[in-house]
Amino acid sequence: MKVIIVGGVAGGASCAARLRRLDEKAEIIMVERGPYVSYANCGLPYHIGGVIEKESSLLVSSEAMFRAMFEIDVRTNCEAIKISPDKKIVELRNVATGEVTTESYDKLVLSPGAVTVRPPLPGIDLPGIFQVRTVPDARAIREWIERGSLFLAGMHKYSGFQTVRPRTRAVVIGGGFIGLETAENLVHRGFDVTLVEMLDQVLAPLDQEMARVVEGYLERHGLRLALNDGVSGFKQAANGVIDVETKSGKTYPADVVIISLGVRPDTALAKAAGLAIGERGGIRVDDQMRTSNPDIFAVGDAIEVKDFVTGQWSLIALAGPANRQGRIAADVIAGRDSRFRGSQGTSIIGLFGAAAAWTGASEKTLNRIGDKDFEKIYLYPNSHAGYYPGARPIAMKVLFRKSDGRLLGAQALGEDNVDKRISALAMAIQMGATIYDLEEAELCYSPQFGSAKDPVNFAGMVAAGVLRGDMPISHWDSAGKGFLLDVREPVELAVENVQGAVNIPLGQLRGRLGELPRDREILVICRSGGRAYYATRMLLQNGFNARTLSGGMLSRYHAQLLEN
Ligand SMILES: Cc1cc2nc3c(=O)[nH]c(=O)nc-3n(C[C@H](O)[C@H](O)[C@H](O)COP(=O)(O)OP(=O)(O)OC[C@H]3O[C@@H](n4cnc5c(N)ncnc54)[C@H](O)[C@@H]3O)c2cc1C
Repeated sequence: MKVIIVGGVAGGASCAARLRRLDEKAEIIMVERGPYVSYANCGLPYHIGGVIEKESSLLVSSEAMFRAMFEIDVRTNCEAIKISPDKKIVELRNVATGEVTTESYDKLVLSPGAVTVRPPLPGIDLPGIFQVRTVPDARAIREWIERGSLFLAGMHKYSGFQTVRPRTRAVVIGGGFIGLETAENLVHRGFDVTLVEMLDQVLAPLDQEMARVVEGYLERHGLRLALNDGVSGFKQAANGVIDVETKSGKTYPADVVIISLGVRPDTALAKAAGLAIGERGGIRVDDQMRTSNPDIFAVGDAIEVKDFVTGQWSLIALAGPANRQGRIAADVIAGRDSRFRGSQGTSIIGLFGAAAAWTGASEKTLNRIGDKDFEKIYLYPNSHAGYYPGARPIAMKVLFRKSDGRLLGAQALGEDNVDKRISALAMAIQMGATIYDLEEAELCYSPQFGSAKDPVNFAGMVAAGVLRGDMPISHWDSAGKGFLLDVREPVELAVENVQGAVNIPLGQLRGRLGELPRDREILVICRSGGRAYYATRMLLQNGFNARTLSGGMLSRYHAQLLEN
């Protein structure tokens, strides 16, 4: 059997290696348009920042290794330019010489990835404007920064000893993963960085109140955010500076500009070959990665996948799914019955020592598809036992089905061990778990790692309390309608209070029930929800109509951030 794989990075390389492990006899050709195979594009922003100092560290594997270890005919600088599905032939062009050759195949795997969105804005091709997609892209940015450093630092304007180095300015356009990671790295390199984003939030998959917390954190770490503003064009100014102009009429001068407006599936080859393209613009495949042509498979950023939670077609450009899909395509080609379960978009980004992570459906996605059968909770558990040094709060939002408790999605922000909580919840979602399963999950615990009730258990317990009716909840957006009861201590109110709320500290509540109305819904407030839960239980058992304001004053902070 002869298999040609187009694209030699995440999906393509994992498909090639897996196929060889399954079929010693197959003839495997892997063609890659660029100069490298199997490189770590996820590390590129950190190479720009100097965290990963050597370019060679990004080259996870080489053409020679693939040849020697897997006997795979790897051809770099080789572009597949045309597929003839009827003849089962691919035309290949040597990028260096332009020479075109043809290869026949029994099975073809497409893993061409995505194309960086680069709108035809005036001035977009000016020197000093870059994208972050490939090793040569990162090299060009580093060279620009390093070679231009005297120039960028303004030293050419001075004679004698330089005592003042004006700050160099970078503008990053786009507040997704790559934009934010690159922006952080440029801050670390001493740049004054402005991030311009057309949407009204960074990290679009997050719900907005969670993104607001991230934005505050970024600004506290020196990143300037210009949200709700799109770039309209670029102009060359004096001294090599580029003026980045926005639709709102602002101008941001920059010594270097990074365009990170997202990606779209690279479907050029597939379209020309007549393969079916889906409603979101990616190559349509079945759960065995087979395209509309049974001998052609496609994987990675180029395809549409079924969203595991919503069941809708979606585009998810992540390394994990691409690698798994590559393996599945290889399995199927080798005669195994592997199937892709869909993707739930599990993601994490590290920013200035903190992390934002999420999995499954967000509230805005559920609202967009008109799903009303869900509830959300906010909670702020410590990353590990509070008495052990270094514990940090994790802000968590968890979404679940009202009717059966099925876990739908989770988002978490914090400075310690956010990843393992979202990873555990991601696994739970994929196993179809409910919040009742989270209550019972047995997770690692000793004081430096977690709590006897891990944040994941805690999320299950809080959510299950809601669904069992033990802890009816409400949210700040509907707080205006109820009688507000604040059960915190007066000293806490001195720091921050809620206008119109009656304060009865939890310790006094039993003795002061007579002060509370029986004809109104009572919304109970505390700092993060724990004391409000105790109070709610007490009130319910005394015949009051009470609800806990989920997340207490800490989630009010989210609500206020949204208002501002
Ligand atoms: C800067 C950056 C940071 C990232 N960080 C993360 C992260 O932290 N976590 C995460 O999950 N994901 C991350 N990603 C996304 C992840 O890298 C991709 O989802 C993944 O690489 C997709 O795999 P793929 O095989 O579909 O495409 P790619 O890995 O992009 O490989 C496609 C390859 O196909 C080649 N190609 C295209 N067309 C042809 C053709 N006609 N002929 C020959 N070759 C062709 C391309 O040159 C390319 O090298 C990041 C991506 C970038 C760029």
